[in-house]
Amino acid sequence: MADLTIPQSILDDIVAHAKELAPYECCGLLAGTNKTVSQLYRIRNIVALEGAQNLSTFDPAKAAHLERLSPAERAEIAFVMDMQEFSAAKKDIRKKGLDLQVVYHSHPHDPARPSVTDIKIATDYEEIWPKINLPAPAYLLVSLMHQTPDIRTYWITGGAVSPAHIAIA
Ligand SMILES: [Zn+2]
Repeated sequence: MADLTIPQSILDDIVAHAKELAPYECCGLLAGTNKTVSQLYRIRNIVALEGAQNLSTFDPAKAAHLERLSPAERAEIAFVMDMQEFSAAKKDIRKKGLDLQVVYHSHPHDPARPSVTDIKIATDYEEIWPKINLPAPAYLLVSLMHQTPDIRTYWITGGAVSPAHIAIA
């Protein structure tokens, strides 16, 4: 049985978002009910636009490293969701009676599997989801490194990555 069902139209929207933002990473949320995704929320990736000093989820050593990179380089290796847009999406998810199901982002030049940074951020967020009354989401990655976009979905728990089973509707 699938962990989640995602409509093809939403997967197409994710690929379109990834292509629009390349070479920057795009990011966003998927929400729905009964393990079926029905809504996509694009969230601004602040890494490209702001300094690494704002990236509270990074440890200081990592932030210092990011600070030395150009905005384009930073965006290629990481994403951090704009909190205002995240809060607005969260409110809309509540208002519509949906569940947050997936956090997605793109890898313009890398395979569709979580980077070390992705796993670190997901692990930091494991403590945050219960505090903001949201279930821990699955992580969907879209890779643009080959002609055909590659989409894969994972659970990240306690620093361990395992595949999530997705049905396409
Ligand atoms: Zn990533």
